[in-house]
Amino acid sequence: MGELRRDPVKNRWVIIDPERPDREAALKVEAQPPPPLAGPCPLCPGNEAMTPPEIAALGEPSRQRNQPGWWVRVTPDLQPLCRIEGDFDRRPEGPFDVMNAVGAHEIVVESPEHHLTWAELPEQQLERVLRAYRLRSLDLRLDGRFRSLIVVKNHGDAASILQHPHSHVLAFPFVPHGIEEELRGCQEFYARKERCAFCDIMLHERVSRVRRVEETDHFVVLAPFASRFPFETWVLPLRHASDFATIDDGELVDLAGLMKRMMQMLGKVLGNQSCTIVLHTAPFDEPHTNDYHWHLEILPKTATVEGFGWGARLFVNPVTPEEAAALLRQAV
Ligand SMILES: [Zn+2]
Ligand SMILES: [Zn+2]
Ligand SMILES: [Zn+2]
Repeated sequence: MGELRRDPVKNRWVIIDPERPDREAALKVEAQPPPPLAGPCPLCPGNEAMTPPEIAALGEPSRQRNQPGWWVRVTPDLQPLCRIEGDFDRRPEGPFDVMNAVGAHEIVVESPEHHLTWAELPEQQLERVLRAYRLRSLDLRLDGRFRSLIVVKNHGDAASILQHPHSHVLAFPFVPHGIEEELRGCQEFYARKERCAFCDIMLHERVSRVRRVEETDHFVVLAPFASRFPFETWVLPLRHASDFATIDDGELVDLAGLMKRMMQMLGKVLGNQSCTIVLHTAPFDEPHTNDYHWHLEILPKTATVEGFGWGARLFVNPVTPEEAAALLRQAV
């Protein structure tokens, strides 16, 4: 018999049921061979002309723009979801709202080396990647058209056309639904208790320890109580802050080491590190200083969500977060 669990932030019920028949599949991720690369990699050093002109880069001081010598490089995406130029042209279509897909879609090229995952990248290199996220977050908010930013990293994703390690930075004129849901949940929680929901969760999990995976000087990793997916984990800063861009240099170094270890742990437990990492941070234009708490969500690509999951947004998870946390802790 499963258990129904409600996430206090997302206000969502999840069925946690370790007796589901798909449980075995959820404890392993099948490695897929990468698709054959057609032609040279546009993200490798020397091929800078194959991408749109760069937006920012960290690299050797003597280096020229759009030339090799970079450590981390940010360019517009080759196939952007939205474009940076133009106006929204907001308009009604009967009862529907429409606007042009204006937004920023940038890619952060995470290393000059073509075949390294976050588990393999030197910590210093991961720190530069996180630094690039902070830089872009501070810069993109200066464009008054944008309200929110997310960072998405598909880790070890064999399905991506680009094998070269990279992540996506997106800025939107709206707040994506998943973040809006959390903001609302956090606001309601704060209105009732005058405390940040994520701070309360951390406090509880750090004492009870059953769902705590790891803790460093500045961060804690948890398997959330109402995990939607097997081995879902959240990385939360111990210091309350709603905006990722307030992360300081000491916290960046700490987070880089932690993310590398997390990817190694997932690789050991699941046999593969395929996962999506998403940065959730407060919108630029709304004061959520007290009630929201930025964090990273790690969503491994294990078992597929059961059919009714997508239809009704009802999640059934065959691996309890307590078991997931215990297995990850052992993999250190
Ligand atoms: Zn490459
Ligand atoms: Zn907090
Ligand atoms: Zn979140």
